[in-house]
Amino acid sequence: MADAVEELTPWQRPLRAQFPIIVGHPELAYLDSAATSQKPQAVLDAVQRYLTTSNANAGRGSYPWANTTTTLVESARDRIKEFLGDPEPDRSTVHFTSGASEGLRSVARDWLPALLADGDEIVVPFADHQANLAPWLETRELLARQGVRIRVRELPYQESSGDYDPAALAEVVGPRTRFVAATHVHHVHGVDLNVHRIREAVGPRTPICLDAAQSVGHMPVSVADLDVDFVVFSGHKALALPGSGAVWARGRRGPAFRPGGWRGTPNTVGIASLAAALDWLGAAGPDRIERWTVALTSRLTEGLSRMDAYEVLGCQSSLSAASQVQRRRSIVAFRHREIASHDLGFILFSHGFMVRSDSHCQAGGEEKEGSVRVSLHVHNTPEEIAELIAALASLQ
Ligand code: PMP
Repeated sequence: MADAVEELTPWQRPLRAQFPIIVGHPELAYLDSAATSQKPQAVLDAVQRYLTTSNANAGRGSYPWANTTTTLVESARDRIKEFLGDPEPDRSTVHFTSGASEGLRSVARDWLPALLADGDEIVVPFADHQANLAPWLETRELLARQGVRIRVRELPYQESSGDYDPAALAEVVGPRTRFVAATHVHHVHGVDLNVHRIREAVGPRTPICLDAAQSVGHMPVSVADLDVDFVVFSGHKALALPGSGAVWARGRRGPAFRPGGWRGTPNTVGIASLAAALDWLGAAGPDRIERWTVALTSRLTEGLSRMDAYEVLGCQSSLSAASQVQRRRSIVAFRHREIASHDLGFILFSHGFMVRSDSHCQAGGEEKEGSVRVSLHVHNTPEEIAELIAALASLQ
């Protein structure tokens, strides 16, 4: 069977060439796409084009630039529904946000309270990104001040496998469970958290909000397959500008999602960049982006598993077992047994590798030892991974 890397190299090369910042820095390897992504020329062009041809406010004026901007915002909503494979676009809504953090907070603040009554329970992740924990706890506090007591239960997570524990989830879910918040791909352990199992455990009626910050733009995300009620993501992790993002809401379970209050001027430039990024990603093919980055990440995890000096987080055992590696997406976090992760980050940069080395905004992560996280996107190459493995080997 041809290796995915070999098979996809002719497809990948011209795509890499479309990232000016990558092409302009051949001495560096950007391995931090989970923190933020680099932008292809098409996105930069879309921003330039919008600002130099039709920049205006949206939904306000009646002259051509204003109309163009209004159309741009409305068609970006349709583009997001299409990109997410929405089978019922007339029923769902798309709300633009500044990113996943604001999106999750908006679901927690603008939608969740109307769903909950005294004594109800919600299940939320305590081992994922802080952005997917703090807003639910804030809503509990807000409701408590109004005399509505909500019980927050922990979505069971196994540090050793980096995965949710669906058997334990069945114990947590009860007749008062009204809502579950989950994550699509874990931002430290890189595991596809297989949200189908959560739907099976909670049954057909409980709304699920999915933090898709690490999946949209990196792999196919189809709301037709994922039976969830919200998909929340950040534009800047999906090749668009910072300050852009969206909440897709199915609108079938629970109250309608209508973020209230005066919303002000939308981030039209960010929205223009997001529409262009989704076009670019759609043309490149999220399935191929996933296969490419998973194949490179597998090479890295296998390389690390051959070196005793390193411990890979999330699935320490049977690293070479196909199933484990395949569950891992484009993120791998590890520690050197003797060199502190922060120092390892500096050392790796002296070799030209840009990685992240801290506790990665993981909820409760302040108490944990940091790690080095390598996260890939379509521009990364097998040569970069081979050089990284060689640099890590030299530190054993
Ligand atoms: N969720 C996950 C899984 C993330 O990785 C991140 C960003 N690291 C966020 C939420 C928050 O995204 P943002 O900072 O763009 O709001």
